[in-house]
Amino acid sequence: MNIESGDLQNLLHAQARSHMPLGVADNYRYWGDETVFIDTMNGPYITDVTGKQYVDFRLAYGPIILGYRDTRIDEEVVNCIRNRGSMCGFSTGLESEVAELMKAMCPNLELVRFSNSGTEAVIGASRTARGFTGREKIVVVEGSFHGLHDEMMWKSDVEGWSPEQVEAPQIKAFGAGVSSNTRSSIEVISLNDVQALRNIFAQQGDDIAAVIIEPIMGNCGSIAATQDYVQALRDTCNSHGALLIFDEVKTGFRVAQGGAQELYGIQADLATYAKAMGNGYPVAAFGGRADVMSRIDINENGVVHGGTYTANLLAMSAAKATLTVLKDTEAVSTIDSVGKAIQQRLSNVFSRFGVEHSFAGPAAMFGVHFASDVPQNYRDWRSSDSQLYQSFAFGLIERGLMLEPDSREPWFICEAHDQLDLDWLETIASEAMDAALSKQNSP
Ligand code: PLP
Repeated sequence: MNIESGDLQNLLHAQARSHMPLGVADNYRYWGDETVFIDTMNGPYITDVTGKQYVDFRLAYGPIILGYRDTRIDEEVVNCIRNRGSMCGFSTGLESEVAELMKAMCPNLELVRFSNSGTEAVIGASRTARGFTGREKIVVVEGSFHGLHDEMMWKSDVEGWSPEQVEAPQIKAFGAGVSSNTRSSIEVISLNDVQALRNIFAQQGDDIAAVIIEPIMGNCGSIAATQDYVQALRDTCNSHGALLIFDEVKTGFRVAQGGAQELYGIQADLATYAKAMGNGYPVAAFGGRADVMSRIDINENGVVHGGTYTANLLAMSAAKATLTVLKDTEAVSTIDSVGKAIQQRLSNVFSRFGVEHSFAGPAAMFGVHFASDVPQNYRDWRSSDSQLYQSFAFGLIERGLMLEPDSREPWFICEAHDQLDLDWLETIASEAMDAALSKQNSP
C-alpha cells in the first residue's frame, strides 16, 4: 500500500485502537484525528513518523530540561546499565549521591525518599504528612494537578462555571471510577485568596494535615501564587500545626536550581520532585524536614514507603547526571534567558496584531494568556481568550512548533532551545496569529 505521509499517523492510530482504549497509552495523548506519533527526538526537536520536524515546547509535559538525547545524561545511564545493572531490589549507594546533589540545591531537604513518578511522590508526601500530624484532610488549590491517584482526582469545575457566577465552582471527580470515599479527605480553595485559606483553617484546622500547592501552577498556565499568599500559607500552616507541601514536580530544578522555594524564599515542610530531575528518565522524589520524614519507619506506627522499582539504577544514574549538570553549569540561567527572549518575540507579534496578552510564571515554564492582566487564579483564567489561544497554537503546530493547544499548559524551555532561530519563531507566530484572527473574525 502506498501510504501518503499525512495518512501514516492515522494508520498507526487505527492500529493502536485495536490494542488500547482511544489508541493511546495515556488519555492526554489523545488528540482525536490529530493524535501525534513521534519517531525520533533530538535536542529541542521531535520528528513525527511522517518526517515532519517540530521545535518542541511541550517537552513531554516538562521533564526535558536540557534537551532530548543529551549525551551527558544518556552516556551515564548507558554506562551504568552496562557496568552495574538496572535494578536489584537492594541499596546501591547511588541514592546518597543523588540525595546530596538535591540537598545542595534545595536547602529545605534534610531527608529524601525516591519514587518513579510525580504521582507516587505526592502519595508518599501526603501519607507522610498524615503520619506525622495524625490528621486526615489535605487542602488543595483550584487548578493544581497532583497526579492520577484517586484522592487528588477531585477538581473545581471551572470550565462549567462562568465568571459572572457568585457561587464557587462545583467540585467534580476527574471522570468515572474515582472512589467517592476519597472526596471527604480533600478540601479545595482558590489560589491567592487569603480569606478562603483562613476560613478553611477556622472551620477545620484541627483536622488539616497539610496544604499541597503548586506555587506556580504548571497545570494551569503557570498562574502563580503571590509572595504574600505563600507567606500567608506558611504562617497559617505554622499556627495550626499543619504541614505545607510544595508540589515541585514541574517547578523543581527548573524555575531555579532550588525550585519555587528558592524563588519565593520560603521553605515548605515537604516537597515533591520529578520531571526535570531526570531529563526524561522516570525518576521522582519527595523530602523535607528530618523530623517529618523520620516518620517513615519500619515499626508498626511508622509510615510505609517503597516500591519494586524505587531508586533503580536507570533512574538514579539519570538523576545523578542531570542534577550534576543543573548544579555545576549555567543551564538554569540559560533556560531563563532563552525563555525571556522567546516571550519578547511573542509579545512583539501579539502587540502588532493588537492582541491583549500577559505572561504568567517564570521564563523557564511560562503561560501565555490572551487577557490584559495576568490571571491570579483558575477562575480568572476563564476570562482569557483560550479559544484564540487554541487556534493560534494549532497554527504554530502546523508551522513546525509543537506545544499543547491549551493555554493551561505552559511553554517549557530547555537548554537546547538556545539554538532556536528567533526570527523564524517571530515569522511563524505572526502567520499563526494572522490565521487565528481571520478564523475568529469569519462568520
Ligand atoms: N504533580 C504535578 C505538579 C504534576 O504536574 C504532575 C504531572 O504532570 C504530577 C504531580 C504527576 O506526575 P506523574 O505524571 O509523573 O505521575
